[in-house]
Amino acid sequence: NLQGKTALVTGSTSGIGLGIALKLAEAGANLVLNGFGDVDAALAAIRACGGQAIHHPADVSDPEQIAAMVAAAEQQFGGVDILVNNAGIQHVAPVEQFPVERWDAIIAINLSSAFHTTRLALPGMRQRGWGRIINLASVHGLVGSAQKAAYVAAKHGLVGLTKVVALETATTAITCNAICPGWVLTPLVQQQIDERARVDGDTQRARHDLLAEKQPSLDFVTPAQLGALVLFLCSEAGEQVRGAAWNMDGGWAAQ
Ligand code: NAD
Repeated sequence: NLQGKTALVTGSTSGIGLGIALKLAEAGANLVLNGFGDVDAALAAIRACGGQAIHHPADVSDPEQIAAMVAAAEQQFGGVDILVNNAGIQHVAPVEQFPVERWDAIIAINLSSAFHTTRLALPGMRQRGWGRIINLASVHGLVGSAQKAAYVAAKHGLVGLTKVVALETATTAITCNAICPGWVLTPLVQQQIDERARVDGDTQRARHDLLAEKQPSLDFVTPAQLGALVLFLCSEAGEQVRGAAWNMDGGWAAQ
């Protein structure tokens, strides 16, 4: 039961972040949503679970906007107890042709944002004596794939940050862990399927080939399943899971 706790989920207007926010709201947490796109629909879905929710429009590539978001969470709900660093973007290109601007954006959004939210939210967690920091890494935080230099570098970095924060909070009731999903069918992955379909000419085949290449289960992980893992990490049973990089990947990393 997360009644009275406040969760900040970056990038929670869509996909995995929204799925996680819904599970946290169902468990009774107050929610601070963040991200672009259909903000009203995301807020309505969360409020339908009965919880209180606000949205903050911070662009998490900007440390000042992140500071304003954490301050807004403190002002509205008294602090951030559960921090889910989920916002992320992808760009696919060989390293020699990788746009420098995309590299910088991916490192800022997928990695540095978690450093900033963590350093800003931790003092309040220490003061209140409880906290959960959950970083949405990826199976690409554990293994590489061609054409994803920035993403794989950022996600490996995020797993590293997770370990350090877990060690620095090890004797407290604050835990920090990473979750490493395989393919989840969200707008981020649909884009990659659409790109393949443009070459292949067939969306069904593109979808199957994408899974068959990497994910032995031949099925997608769902945002709701990832939300359930977040709830476990937030529970008492999860208290001694610290510094883990927990994959939920249909067997991807077992190969
Ligand atoms: P998505 O594109 O559906 O959602 C991304 C969210 O981040 C959106 O709410 C978007 O508005 C927000 N966002 C993007 N840039 C932002 C910025 N600068 N500031 C604030 N918010 C921003 O993506 P998703 O598939 O749900 O991915 C969520 C996370 O899970 C990412 O970190 C991604 O790397 C990771 N992940 C996804 C998969 C997958 O297969 N989809 C697999 C492993 C890991």
